[in-house]
Amino acid sequence: MTRSETETETRTNSPRIVRTVSDLRTIVEGWKADGHSVGLVPTMGALHHGHLSLVHLLARHVDHVVVSIFVNPAQFGPGEDLARYPRQEAKDVAALANSAADLVFAPDVEEVYPHGFSSSVHITGLTEDLEGASRPGHFDGMATVVMKLLLQSQCDTAIFGEKDYQQLAVIRRMAEDFNLPVKIVAAPIVREDDGLAASSRNAYLDQAQRQVAVGLNRILADLVSRAEAGENLASLEQKGRKALLAAGFDSVDYVCFRDATTLAPIRNLRQPARLLAVARLGTIRLLDNMAVAATVTDR
Ligand code: AMP
Repeated sequence: MTRSETETETRTNSPRIVRTVSDLRTIVEGWKADGHSVGLVPTMGALHHGHLSLVHLLARHVDHVVVSIFVNPAQFGPGEDLARYPRQEAKDVAALANSAADLVFAPDVEEVYPHGFSSSVHITGLTEDLEGASRPGHFDGMATVVMKLLLQSQCDTAIFGEKDYQQLAVIRRMAEDFNLPVKIVAAPIVREDDGLAASSRNAYLDQAQRQVAVGLNRILADLVSRAEAGENLASLEQKGRKALLAAGFDSVDYVCFRDATTLAPIRNLRQPARLLAVARLGTIRLLDNMAVAATVTDR
């Protein structure tokens, strides 16, 4: 821990905003010349208390925190919500004013993908299934921009939320495979009081949908306790799908128990696992996931 709790909590100045890689690098290089460490919180903006928890957590690991705000077109498929994704930079910067963020990096699309840009990062194995199956090309776009942000910011540490559990697994794989000199930190899911995982997309929910949405967390918690009590995982996945539809969700993309690290399908709880689910209300996709303890031993 390099910064005291008091210091992170009493900071009141708004963070400075930079929009170019060159300005970002100048500031980061200054910090590094002083022997300070740098952390990055990649976001797409529309910040809520989940994002702020990442900033707070990361400040315990590094001397300076950079928050990037960039709605990355490359990770949205045709027909997804790129155009209507909430953009509220002034509000986001105001939300960071009382946080541990020192700097906001908010580049334009042309700064990230200048004319002639032709590269892409593809991670195999972890990306085809689950979110990858529902959103073809999503992880290539996500991995490409995260690779860029890590290199642009030259951060020592970067933090990602368990809310996007598969994304976290993909980033960990990428950092290892490419020997990136960046420590990847995972942050626990921040939830609303009723259990719904905080998300920028919750703003799309109308009142009736918001009431149905809370069922996702409740149903997953029930499936996890039944799995840990020894019920068959495949039949729990079926029951989970039915329970979500009965609770009022319009459709279910997946409800799956997976290996917590490789995300490979599992038949029992011999190793730590994760229950991952996506259910839809209209066009809104709600993601959630939960840890599942290893309860089966070979004794
Ligand atoms: P996004 O702006 O949605 O791309 O999210 C930026 C980062 O914040 C990602 O690492 C997310 O996993 C993380 N995040 C978003 N919502 C939450 C949440 N409710 N709890 C923890 N982390 C979150």
